[in-house]
Amino acid sequence: MARYTGPVCRLCRREGMKLYLKGDKCFSDKCPVSRRSYAPGQHGQSRKKVTEYGMQLREKQKVRRFYGISESQMRKYFAMADKMKGITGENLLRLLELRLDNVVYRMGFASSRAEARQLVTHGHFLVNGAKVDIPSVQLKVGDKIEVKEKSRSSEKFKELIENHSGNTVKWVDVDLDQLRGSIVSEPTREDIDIPVEEHLIVELYSK
Ligand code: SF4
Repeated sequence: MARYTGPVCRLCRREGMKLYLKGDKCFSDKCPVSRRSYAPGQHGQSRKKVTEYGMQLREKQKVRRFYGISESQMRKYFAMADKMKGITGENLLRLLELRLDNVVYRMGFASSRAEARQLVTHGHFLVNGAKVDIPSVQLKVGDKIEVKEKSRSSEKFKELIENHSGNTVKWVDVDLDQLRGSIVSEPTREDIDIPVEEHLIVELYSK
């Protein structure tokens, strides 16, 4: 299935929650979820009984939309997570968190995962000193991510340093002046602030 390229705020309204897909707008009073907290479309405000399958499906869609991945990618991540030791649902979220585009976002080098994906595909980042322009690259503890020397003086990154909140997740270490960072530990479930019941996704894919 192709990646969704329509209006992203609709996705948040469909899930009934903020998915933080639009950067700064998500934190402003322009966010449509704050103004219209019902699903989009003609029947968006009607009450429907949600089946067990419906709940599982919604949780899966929520995760796909948070990370901006396709259904086939999601199935591949699930297959990988299922083969790993530990709790499959947590493994799944950990794999998604360790994608390069997500790590760039978590480091605060982009205002949304979509922007992080674009910056990566445009070749602005090095991983362990080598240019990497594939957003889905899987990172591991010890990997070093930095903005390419040539890109550092661009308006985009100057602006980013000025507006950086300084808040990042505890499993990454960020040197904002040098526009670089590294992964210091694997994210635990508590570190992943995504309000999702991942066991429902495991149930859905295990059928
Ligand atoms: Fe979602 Fe952000 Fe749009 Fe609000 S502004 S609906 S959080 S993408």
